[in-house]
Amino acid sequence: MKFVMPGDKLGYAEEYAAGKGVYEENGELFASVAGKVVMRDRVISVEPVKRIPEIKKGDVVVGRIIDLRNSLALVEIARKEGFDRELMHTGLGAIHISNVQPGYLKDISTAFGYRDIVRAKVVDVEQMKLSTKEEGMGVIKAICSICKEGLVLEKNKLVCPSCGNVEKRRVSPEYGKGRW
Ligand code: ZN
Repeated sequence: MKFVMPGDKLGYAEEYAAGKGVYEENGELFASVAGKVVMRDRVISVEPVKRIPEIKKGDVVVGRIIDLRNSLALVEIARKEGFDRELMHTGLGAIHISNVQPGYLKDISTAFGYRDIVRAKVVDVEQMKLSTKEEGMGVIKAICSICKEGLVLEKNKLVCPSCGNVEKRRVSPEYGKGRW
């Protein structure tokens, strides 16, 4: 499954026809919405991120990082905090590099890792933009990038109990306390 954001290049008009959620510009095809790429009979479309009915601006959600780009982390939202996940529709959200932490962040991969669980605030429901800038937000569970063991928080550092690897994240004060 490939996830794209608006403006992401998908291919060339001579190879594919533009389906829903796709526009053509100078012979190239781009996503016009955030979502999942679907290719069928040489037609490229983007199935848009579904709006999650239960979620409002300002809500806190918990989800997993499923893709990291230069300036963007894609989050698969699992639930709204305080609600059972059975009651939720899941969906996709995105954290822009400017919404990761207070102050400037140069490289998003120093704040998040693939498959991290994050606690994030919803800042825009239409485009499902999330933020971990606010107090209490950030990574609540992460695994070692070398041996996949769960990282343990020790004095503001995430340490792997198995191989000793130390990793950097935008850590939430809730790290390791949840039921993840
Ligand atoms: Zn390790």
